[in-house]
Amino acid sequence: LQMQPDLSFQNRFTQLGVPFFTTLHPSPIKNPYLIAVSSTMLKKFGIIDAQANSAEFIEVFSGNRVHPTSTPLAAVYSGHQFGVWAGQLGDGRAILLGELSAVDETSQASNQSANLHEIQLKGAGMTPYSRMGDGRAVLRSSVREFLCSEAMAGLGIPTSRALCIIGSDQYTMREMPEKTAIVTRTAPSFLRFGSFEHWYYNDKPEQLQQLADFVIQQYYPHLQELENPYQELLKEVVIKTAELVAQWQTVGFMHGVLNTDNMSILGLTLDYGPFGFMDGFDPAHICNHSDSQGRYSYQMQARIGQWNCHALAQALLPLIGSIEATQEALSCYAEHYESYYAQRLSEKFGLLETLPGDQELFADYLALMAATHTDFTLAFRNLSQVTLAPSAQENALRDLFIDREKLDQWLLVYRQRLQQEHSVDAERTVRMNQVNPKYVLRNYLAQQAIEKAEQKDFSEIDLLLKILANPFAEQAEFERYAQLPPDWATQLSVSCSS
Ligand code: AMP
Ligand code: MG
Ligand code: MG
Repeated sequence: LQMQPDLSFQNRFTQLGVPFFTTLHPSPIKNPYLIAVSSTMLKKFGIIDAQANSAEFIEVFSGNRVHPTSTPLAAVYSGHQFGVWAGQLGDGRAILLGELSAVDETSQASNQSANLHEIQLKGAGMTPYSRMGDGRAVLRSSVREFLCSEAMAGLGIPTSRALCIIGSDQYTMREMPEKTAIVTRTAPSFLRFGSFEHWYYNDKPEQLQQLADFVIQQYYPHLQELENPYQELLKEVVIKTAELVAQWQTVGFMHGVLNTDNMSILGLTLDYGPFGFMDGFDPAHICNHSDSQGRYSYQMQARIGQWNCHALAQALLPLIGSIEATQEALSCYAEHYESYYAQRLSEKFGLLETLPGDQELFADYLALMAATHTDFTLAFRNLSQVTLAPSAQENALRDLFIDREKLDQWLLVYRQRLQQEHSVDAERTVRMNQVNPKYVLRNYLAQQAIEKAEQKDFSEIDLLLKILANPFAEQAEFERYAQLPPDWATQLSVSCSS
């Protein structure tokens, strides 16, 4: 194999031993070809572009050849799906190849293991946890996961990342036959809330503790010396989760399937499926066509994040030792969510100070947006053009609202509020444009890239990757990617089928 000598897999997860996973080989796929790479992530692992274009790279990341240093495995986990205990799930179509060491300048932690990132193939064939599934993923969902995880990273939101997509003309059956693809995704760990629930509900306290100790040792080492490390673990995960969900809310991101098996123990956005970014603002919007009750609608996400933390807390209770200590850790969710979200909103509105009445001001704007489904991303982006003295610069914002009179009333109050803190137009605009993205992965943009990719034209994937890497920058040549979605976009529907 002609890989760089430093492309060598390690695997801390195998230390846990057999009940936690099954070792297996990925299933080969016919005539794999490279669809896209994230150069940022290649660089992170010291993989040079020429290497990514080699036959060896395609063989390894299609699952057709097992790298000599890799011990591929699928992990077991369980979870609550749509609020109901679902029992055993597990990596039904994800295979962990092992871990690669990050070599870029941002990853020079003195602790070697802190630089390790798990490398998973998603869609590389069946595992013992595939249940009724085929272990595959279609091109459509692979492109969506690849682009969205990189877009989230561009937004500065914690997420799993993606290294590449490998395609094949082999078809996979969904509602209709679709082209197959494999995403290579990476994260320091893909362990989920459901990984813990699994041992709790199977009444296996030893494995539960072994897993918790492993997670603390590897990912939360600073908790090791504390009096009750398990309580502290819960507390940290609860806080990370609250912050993550708050960040989703501020950019209009909806995950779509917030089951406990899709909740990262590191507070990362994980398992991209029928996600969506809000176009016209509707707090009740359901991005997942299969979610008939709207359990995972935009407005439910904060509560669901908390519900999921409760599920994790239940599983960790035997380790924490008391209900009081468990509840104390859990109570951090509400507190933290509120303050963190309020702070983020304040930044989105360009404010530097916090004054009584701010929350109402924000809520009024969101209500105005909701009343006529104003585009979420543009309503915030264009808000930065408001000046203390009304000017024509505001027209792009006013054009977004059908009820101009109501908007003008709100702007009056907003201006007064800005004056109260002696806000400076130019400085505020710069600040606001650093937190209100201009470019997000709208469904229709992903759809256009997918349709081209089905025809073997991968240029749109590369272009979106490039634009979304800098979502806060004005990119004049790509202005049209920031515009309102076309009418046909409202007809797009995404379901769990992927
Ligand atoms: P999700 O909600 O998409 O994250 O998936 C829920 C569970 O179903 C996980 O255990 C997945 O690994 C499994 N799964 C989803 N799609 C497939 C598939 N095509 N083949 C095998 N397992 C799958
Ligand atoms: Mg999942
Ligand atoms: Mg999925």
